[in-house]
Amino acid sequence: MNSRSETRSRELRARAVELTPGGVHSNVRLTSPSVFFDRGKGAWLWDADGNDYVDYLLGQGPNFLGHAHDEVITAVESAMRRGGVFGSQHVLENEAGELFLDSIGWAERVRFGVSGTEADQAALRLARAATGRTRFVRFEGHYHGWLDNVLIKTVDGVTGPASEGQLAHHLDDSIVLGFNDPVALARAFDEHGGEIAAVILEPMMCNSGAIPPENGYLQRVRELCTEHGAVLIFDEVITGFRLTLGGAAERFGVTPDLAVYGKAMAGGWPVSALAGRADVMDRFAAGVNHSGTFNSSVPACAAVTAALTVLRRDAPYQRVEEHGARLIDGIRKLGVDHDLPLRVQGLPMAFHVGFGDPAPVIDAAGLGRLDLKRYADLVPVLVDHGIWVAPRGIWYVSAAHGDSELAAVLERLDAALSAGG
Ligand code: PLP
Repeated sequence: MNSRSETRSRELRARAVELTPGGVHSNVRLTSPSVFFDRGKGAWLWDADGNDYVDYLLGQGPNFLGHAHDEVITAVESAMRRGGVFGSQHVLENEAGELFLDSIGWAERVRFGVSGTEADQAALRLARAATGRTRFVRFEGHYHGWLDNVLIKTVDGVTGPASEGQLAHHLDDSIVLGFNDPVALARAFDEHGGEIAAVILEPMMCNSGAIPPENGYLQRVRELCTEHGAVLIFDEVITGFRLTLGGAAERFGVTPDLAVYGKAMAGGWPVSALAGRADVMDRFAAGVNHSGTFNSSVPACAAVTAALTVLRRDAPYQRVEEHGARLIDGIRKLGVDHDLPLRVQGLPMAFHVGFGDPAPVIDAAGLGRLDLKRYADLVPVLVDHGIWVAPRGIWYVSAAHGDSELAAVLERLDAALSAGG
């Protein structure tokens, strides 16, 4: 709160900007309040000054089991004692692969990597190889990593590069459409069908708002891909192992050809995965290159196995869903109590909080109708009151959130809205 000490964080921040650009190691963090955390456990974080925070950002998603889960720590610790990476296969790989494929249910092969960004690139390369085509369809507001061919910004309906130094012509292969618009996709296939290798999308758009697919939308995307011979890629980096064990594919009942996973799959350990149909994936053993020194490292496989074992045994999804639903109700009620146009949209385990018209938003353009700046301005006040969330409005619920966290966050939110809403 305002009375919270910031002495140590301030010192660390002053030194950090001398060591690394902007004082951060990922540009996404430039927009968040600068807090130096000391440790996390369960749904809680403690900063360098000893202040506590109830965490609804979860490291941008990975800590679905809560921070520092004991079983993941034990597994990683004992795995590391056997060595980290061997430049060959090791005995923990198959168990992780089997658990992974069995958990998502639909895919026949998996490749483990390190980041979602590179797994998305591997998926696009595979789709090009499988179809002999070069272009791909993607959607406004969806994020598929920070590399030149996928990083976009749309301003006043015009899409272009989002970074200085980015090669603009690397975007020439992408056809950018609005999400939840099956007519636009059908038109793109009519006009460019013979060139489109893949359609890649966040099956629920979580990088801008938290926008679920409209009824029947993903089914229509699936039909159009099949009809035109394009590879359907779900980017499940956020939705995988979060919406349910089988991710968005299971939750919305639509099977892609390939899907990319990351974040929630390994209890906070950095692992990504590309999974899919054997006939497409096996091209990695027949001419398509996907490499990485740290792919399927010993601790990564141990973390995947431990996290998936816990998720399958404890089946926390119902509990997470109930917590999220109660939290959303509580946030909406506080909006009414404080006479603020606070709105919440999404699913209970991943939802978006903002200011504006409560009518559902179905695409990135619709987010322009919300007062995104007002929410971003509120975030430092939330952080000062011990709620850790990001300015872009996404809130994630973990399996470690319970009644005490719910009571704490609503009490803190009430105080924050009184102070700065
Ligand atoms: N795809 C989606 C949907 C994401 O949300 C992200 C990261 O937030 C990525 C890909 C990139 O993953 P990473 O940050 O691990 O490279």
